[in-house]
Amino acid sequence: MRTEPLSRPAQDKTPADLRAWLAVLAARGELAVARENVSLIDELSAIAKCTERSKAVLFPRPSGHDIPVVANLFTQRSWVADALGVGEDDLLPRFLAAARDPLPWVEVTTAAAQEVVHTKVDLLAQLPVPKHNELDSGPYITAGLLIARNPVTGVQNVSIHRCQISGPDRIGVLLLPRHTLAYYRMAEQAGDGLEVAIVIGVHPACLLASQAIAALDEDEMEIAGALLGRPIEMVKCKTNAVRVPAHAEIVVEGRILPKVREPEGPFGEFPQYYGPRAAREVIQVEAVTHRRHPIFHTIVGGSFEHLVLGAVPREATLLQHLKRSFPNVLDVRLTRGGTCRYHLVVKIDKTSEGEAKNIIMGAFGGHYDVKQVVVVDKDVDISSPDEIEWAVATRFQADRDLVLVSGAQGSKLDPSTDQGISAKLGFDATAPLSDDPLAFRRIHVKGEDAVDLSDALVKDPNAAFARIIAQQLT
Ligand code: MN
Repeated sequence: MRTEPLSRPAQDKTPADLRAWLAVLAARGELAVARENVSLIDELSAIAKCTERSKAVLFPRPSGHDIPVVANLFTQRSWVADALGVGEDDLLPRFLAAARDPLPWVEVTTAAAQEVVHTKVDLLAQLPVPKHNELDSGPYITAGLLIARNPVTGVQNVSIHRCQISGPDRIGVLLLPRHTLAYYRMAEQAGDGLEVAIVIGVHPACLLASQAIAALDEDEMEIAGALLGRPIEMVKCKTNAVRVPAHAEIVVEGRILPKVREPEGPFGEFPQYYGPRAAREVIQVEAVTHRRHPIFHTIVGGSFEHLVLGAVPREATLLQHLKRSFPNVLDVRLTRGGTCRYHLVVKIDKTSEGEAKNIIMGAFGGHYDVKQVVVVDKDVDISSPDEIEWAVATRFQADRDLVLVSGAQGSKLDPSTDQGISAKLGFDATAPLSDDPLAFRRIHVKGEDAVDLSDALVKDPNAAFARIIAQQLT
């Protein structure tokens, strides 16, 4: 990790908006296109899940709807870096630099996002909203930035919430105890609703910035601007005072009603379980605006796209937290098997015995979601589950290197906890320091990294094989 601030990215290295990012993927052969008329109910998500590790998918005319849907904007962590125009090693430093040095947005008066304005709202007629996991209560907007204004100061907050379509102009919304809920409580106590917008189809940097672990009254769109190296252009909504990204494909305008709660859920969530049905807040929709020919972005609940969007900002925050006390921490990963929240791997340049256990304890303090920590040496590729397991297999002894803490605070969404009370597990999988140059030295084939298989192997192996066998027979 670099310690000096990174310069902001060159504007021409990052795509302009969602469409430009899709064009990048298409040019690389990483955008699949589904046949027309795939059903918005279950079928679209089923196809998207099948390519969640390899390709984005565009669905033209889903259930006959005019507006196409796209899913899987990220199928690999490296794509997040690509969308920001940085190398993968610079992803976390770039995110930290943007969070530290945000770039205020600028207001514009005309916007692509408002080329078409519907004030008579019928959500399912106007938007192709899919149903995702099998037991979801129905169609959900899952990739919408929910933007709200502090009712007193006007400072905006940006976050993603699951949004259940409850009626033609009604949305049930889950507000966890964070910033949107804080603004809503302020409005509700004054007897008002909270003006909001749900913004669908934005630049990937806006999605990523919305997941930043920021303080209340830090506007995540300023972090998005810093990530891109240019201020985000924002436009005032047609029916309220919320400002939304002008480049968005679709905007749903409305307000969270005071004193109203209606059933919402179940909904398939990131831990690969369903969040339950309960009485939750309700958005009354006042308008839908969109581009003339918009694209609707959806995130399948629990898919890799869902996981990685949460992972990168959390990794950045945990890396910063650990480096403050342990400067020899090099990198961190929240693993996919650990739902990109619960299992952390830390790579260190080990300088003394015992420090891995201190780092494990430090990581538990970095975020209550962290349940398991594996600390490895700098020769281990922490993007590879095989490499992490190898380090545990050959450098860890349970009676010597295990850390176990009972009865700590964990994630309420982890169903194995007792109402969020969780055990913590740490593995010191670093090799002991030694003067013996062969102790714990990994085997390696000389020249392996430099092999060019397109040069080393023939183009037509079957013909070559037949020739070789024929020669051996003579
Ligand atoms: Mn916030």
